[in-house]
Amino acid sequence: MDFLRPASWEEALAAKAEHPTAVPIAGGTDVMVEINFDHRRPEYLLDLNRIDELTEWEVGQESVRLGASVPYSAIMENLRTELPGLALASHTVASPQIRNRGGVGGNLGTASPAGDAHPALLAAGAEVEAESVRGTRLIPIDAFYTGVKRNALEPDELIRAVHIKKADGPQQYSKVGTRNAMVIAVCAFGLALHPETRTVRTGIGSAAPTPVRAKEAEAFLNAALDEGGFWESGKIITPAIAKQFAALASGACNPIDDVRGTAKYRRHAVGIMARRTLGWTWEQYRGAGRTLEGAA
Ligand SMILES: Cc1cc2nc3c(=O)[nH]c(=O)nc-3n(C[C@H](O)[C@H](O)[C@H](O)COP(=O)(O)OP(=O)(O)OC[C@H]3O[C@@H](n4cnc5c(N)ncnc54)[C@H](O)[C@@H]3O)c2cc1C
Repeated sequence: MDFLRPASWEEALAAKAEHPTAVPIAGGTDVMVEINFDHRRPEYLLDLNRIDELTEWEVGQESVRLGASVPYSAIMENLRTELPGLALASHTVASPQIRNRGGVGGNLGTASPAGDAHPALLAAGAEVEAESVRGTRLIPIDAFYTGVKRNALEPDELIRAVHIKKADGPQQYSKVGTRNAMVIAVCAFGLALHPETRTVRTGIGSAAPTPVRAKEAEAFLNAALDEGGFWESGKIITPAIAKQFAALASGACNPIDDVRGTAKYRRHAVGIMARRTLGWTWEQYRGAGRTLEGAA
């Protein structure tokens, strides 16, 4: 196995163009497990650890440009206000050691349906900045996951950064596991309220072949909140609306039975998490200093 160690991003792109089968390694928390267990024996490893800009982020007017290798611990410490959903999801990843090494670029590279960043990225709205010697493109997060552990990257492309919309309202992340830490999600749910556009977005993890949005549930809730004047009044969401939202979120799942849980349990749990995260975010929204005149 050859170890390629580019000193700059340009060198990394050139190396990937020359060796499209080279496996990039960032934190190595997925790659090294695969190599150690002999699940993967790549001809080339492409080490991205000398490229400092991959560990940097920029907070813009509308979005955060998060370098592919920014570790989860840095997201938790520095971007809690701008990216609350992703910061909460980062908290649930593994252990402090893994959170100091692993990052969102690696989570996207692996594209496991159980990856914790995905529901938060889907709910917030994000684009993956993919680059090759041929140029740069922004891949909408909805189009990024193409199958079980498959993504939309071309063989010569690398992830440079992820552009994530800054929160304009409350966001939540909920994960079911067999214990509180060091656990792969049995299933997970991310929810973001977007008061500026009066919309909600969701993300479901580990309950379908890829991370998915519960689009019917979103459409139902958007219409119900709009028709009922909930955004203006801030009144409590009725149990009937919350129940239907949960049922539609559950219906968006296409899970399997595996060692971590049954399909039936996953569908049920996603519904519960959808209802709970809606309750939590809506309470935050109601309490965020908006006018509550007319609240029921
Ligand atoms: C003990 C343990 C517990 C874990 N717990 C969790 C958990 O709770 N939740 C969770 O989501 N994950 C968990 N993981 C998995 C892993 O930590 C995450 O997926 C992490 O985000 C991977 O990031 P990394 O930088 O280490 O990626 P790496 O291992 O370096 O790479 C992962 C994949 O992404 C590709 N890649 C990396 N960077 C780029 C790039 N810039 N461009 C293109 N492709 C790239 C690699 O080639 C590889 O295919 C766990 C892993 C371990 C070992």
